[in-house]
Amino acid sequence: MNKDLKTHLSSLLNESITKISALHGGDISNAYRIETPNNGYFLKLNKALNAARMFQTEVYGLQLIRKTNTIKTPGVIACDTFQDSAFLLMEFIENKSPSPTDFKNLGHQLAQLHTCTSEYFGLDRDNFIGSLQQSNKPNTTWLEFYATERLLPQLELAKQKQLLSTDICPRVQEIKEALKPIFKDIKPALLHGDLWSGNYLISKDGVPYLIDPAIYYGHHETDIAMTKLFGGFNDSFYDAYNAHFTRDKNTFHRIEIYQLYYLLVHLNLFGRSYYGSVASILKKYF
Ligand code: ADP
Repeated sequence: MNKDLKTHLSSLLNESITKISALHGGDISNAYRIETPNNGYFLKLNKALNAARMFQTEVYGLQLIRKTNTIKTPGVIACDTFQDSAFLLMEFIENKSPSPTDFKNLGHQLAQLHTCTSEYFGLDRDNFIGSLQQSNKPNTTWLEFYATERLLPQLELAKQKQLLSTDICPRVQEIKEALKPIFKDIKPALLHGDLWSGNYLISKDGVPYLIDPAIYYGHHETDIAMTKLFGGFNDSFYDAYNAHFTRDKNTFHRIEIYQLYYLLVHLNLFGRSYYGSVASILKKYF
């Protein structure tokens, strides 16, 4: 890390920095652990043009989740730019690998977050999923919202990037007709929005934290779909979560449809290796 930035952070913290270590695990930004004689901080740095906005919307998401008092998020210390980088500085959460009890607590607390509701699906602002724009234009109908603000923009982007052909992509009317029978009685729930295993932490004393959110009000099963996309969380997570929400005969199909969004995002961010998974869901439902 550049020396000027280190000096800048040190004056911002009003503490001397004793150690800076690069961390791995994030997909989008460079991440560091910053140590001072008494504290630990987590820093993300990103030089992309839209990075400052990405970090601002991340902070908004972390704070909205925090305000619900259902599940913790790390405290944000600063979100700013320095020279040619945007940066986000927050509390470092000393973490451990989760025990079944930690998973149980995560499941209960996520379910509590999902009881926070709104009059509409979406959010009062757009945000990002990874580094891609995520449109949250409010809508009172989940079917409309999911078709026009989630699937369509990612399908369009994949076509533009020549990752999907026009004939495999359903049109908006086809999407709505196919999903109408399985999207019934859905109420807005505050979502993390990108809940894979790299986006929660369990502190050393067993407290769950959510990080790196892409929040909006949507169907609560969307977060569960993301937890299941790459292997799934521990069973005690689902046992705890399912004590709060009933599933029905279409849950399985909705989970696949919600995974489609994340797979399209992966296709658009990381390329062709996600084509097969995307194509098989498209062929199955549309
Ligand atoms: P990116 O936006 O680049 O995907 P993340 O916010 O997911 O970055 O952070 C990358 C990794 O850094 C996470 O998977 C996690 O292991 C670790 N991490 C993130 N926030 C903190 C924090 N506040 N304290 C400790 N470790 C963190």
